[in-house]
Amino acid sequence: MLSMDEFSIIKQYFSTISPHRKEVILGIGDDAAGIRVPADQLLLVSTDTLVADVHFKMDWDAYDIASRAVRVNVSDIAAMGGQPVWMVLSLTLPNADQNWLERFSLGLQDQLQAYNMALVGGNLARGPLSITITIHGLVPEQHVVTRHGAQRGDRIYVSGLLGAAAQAVALLKKHSVPEPLMQALLHPKPRVEWRNILQTYATAAIDISDGLLADLNHIATASGLGACLMLDSIPIHPWVQQYQGDHAVEFVLEGGDDYELCFTVSPANEDAMRDALASQGLTAYRIGMMESAKGLRGQKGTQAPILLETKGYQHF
Ligand code: ADP
Ligand code: MG
Repeated sequence: MLSMDEFSIIKQYFSTISPHRKEVILGIGDDAAGIRVPADQLLLVSTDTLVADVHFKMDWDAYDIASRAVRVNVSDIAAMGGQPVWMVLSLTLPNADQNWLERFSLGLQDQLQAYNMALVGGNLARGPLSITITIHGLVPEQHVVTRHGAQRGDRIYVSGLLGAAAQAVALLKKHSVPEPLMQALLHPKPRVEWRNILQTYATAAIDISDGLLADLNHIATASGLGACLMLDSIPIHPWVQQYQGDHAVEFVLEGGDDYELCFTVSPANEDAMRDALASQGLTAYRIGMMESAKGLRGQKGTQAPILLETKGYQHF
């Protein structure tokens, strides 16, 4: 199929790049991988496709494309309170460009090492450039964090400053993008280090891929609730503040791609969580509250809340 022999590509660029994990009984090389799932753990499975010229530009360094592809998948596992452990890679390539494969493989290897994940299989096909990763994670069954667990009165938190990646996307269309913003887009930081906090304190969680409003709306809808945001408390990346000025809040409500976590916590557990965060060197920002009235509202200072529309990123 590809100009370089398919099996040589797999051998050279994929079969030996990931750390060994004891659960992997059969890795790359057979018709299917064989994995021993530890008892009491729930196996989390998620997949994401990145398509050239939709999710990334063809001319990006293949190292960065691999990095982003792995990290957005890791983020889905992090949002469930899980630990990423194995992944499968389906790669569709227009040709077997060895320089491209070299960079892609290196980007992949660095992420696999960083998150201690095994690459256990995959597929290669010729066609328009597209990357599909299926990631597997583990979480103790009683500690899994879902979108549907929020309760009325729960406080809403986010795990970091918002808007940098969306600002990069906005600038890409016309201008050169400052390096720190481009880094936020290319190498989002999946919040795996929040696993214990989420497992212990979160009633619901999601990673912010489509925009704060759209993703908070998923928690609200799944939990049969609505929410009110304190618009002055939303943590905005300083560069976004600079570019967007008075529109910065609106911009981060819609802008996705940051892969920060949005999660809810019962007010009874907030003090304990604050201590735990401090001891782990993490900062969470409280941005609102879950309410029984459906829909999302936003409040500036002491003004009356206004209804917020949720558009977010829609593929179709
Ligand atoms: P099959 O024809 O049985 O589907 P393949 O010949 O496509 O298997 O693949 C051979 C082995 O290499 C399998 O174990 C498969 O999971 C693995 N593999 C194929 N492509 C990739 C890839 N891009 N990354 C990692 N492993 C891969
Ligand atoms: Mg087969």
